[in-house]
Amino acid sequence: MKFNVKSRGDHDSNILTQKIKNYLKEFELEFNEEEPDIVISVGGDGTLLEAFHQYTHRLEETSFVGVHTGHLGFYADWQPDEVEKLVIHIAKTPYKIVEYPVLEVIIRHHGDQKSERFLALNECTVKSMEGSLVMDIEIKGDLFETFRGDGLCLSTPSGSTAYNKALGGAILHPSLASIQLAEMASINNRVYRTVGSPLVLPQHHTCILKPKNDVDFQVSVDHYSLVQKKVKAIQCRVAEEKVRFARFRPFPFWKRVKESFIAE
Ligand code: NAP
Ligand code: MN
Repeated sequence: MKFNVKSRGDHDSNILTQKIKNYLKEFELEFNEEEPDIVISVGGDGTLLEAFHQYTHRLEETSFVGVHTGHLGFYADWQPDEVEKLVIHIAKTPYKIVEYPVLEVIIRHHGDQKSERFLALNECTVKSMEGSLVMDIEIKGDLFETFRGDGLCLSTPSGSTAYNKALGGAILHPSLASIQLAEMASINNRVYRTVGSPLVLPQHHTCILKPKNDVDFQVSVDHYSLVQKKVKAIQCRVAEEKVRFARFRPFPFWKRVKESFIAE
């Protein structure tokens, strides 16, 4: 079995990363950055997001597991003092795998610029580079509303505890193959009207955002941020691909929610 270990880059994470590498080599597992079967991220949820984006081209072959060197994470849910146990689990394959849905984002442009496709593990956000964001929101081919406000956030179920939660979105269990559309400060008065509530869309219900004016947009995909010009449409839906997490012990989603936001 081939593995890679990704560190957040701070002192503690680097030391732990080296320790895990050495342990796994002692178990005669092969260190391989190009085609790992398992990627262990050491740091925080942000570190796991980076690991995910490095291997989006081989999600069917690569599983992820996260160790946190700071606070408990949603993806990084192993403690540093558990790594010996973790390494033994990894070495004695096969291990259990759970799959979570990811978000597909396709950005189409006016003119002949090629469309761009992204996968997000947490979310995609869209904001205007100048003035309010004004966009038609189409759901399943029909115009739903014209949005006017600060921005829009389309999140995955596992990303629903991140930015989406700060926007008043619901926390969704990752077994629900769905995406959630949440508003950022919509303008609501007698002229402009949006539904106001976050919407949860099932698989195959595509959401398309169509700009009403020719401005530049700031589009984020997880921790990446891009400036997009001449945008014709931003299409979002549940991706065909899924992310795979290696599960060595049960740590139910609602327990992670409780321990992260309520109490240990
Ligand atoms: P960051 O600024 O370190 O992330 C903000 C916080 O979100 C960190 O505490 C991070 O955990 C946590 N986080 C990431 N994914 C999460 C998840 N699925 N559930 C619960 N918490 C999660 O930047 P980053 O580490 O590169 O993470 C990028 C993410 O930050 C974006 O995908 C977005 O969701 C989030 N974000 C949130 C807001 C907001 O809440 N207002 C604004 C911008 C971005 P770690 O410390 O363990 O990394
Ligand atoms: Mn972070």
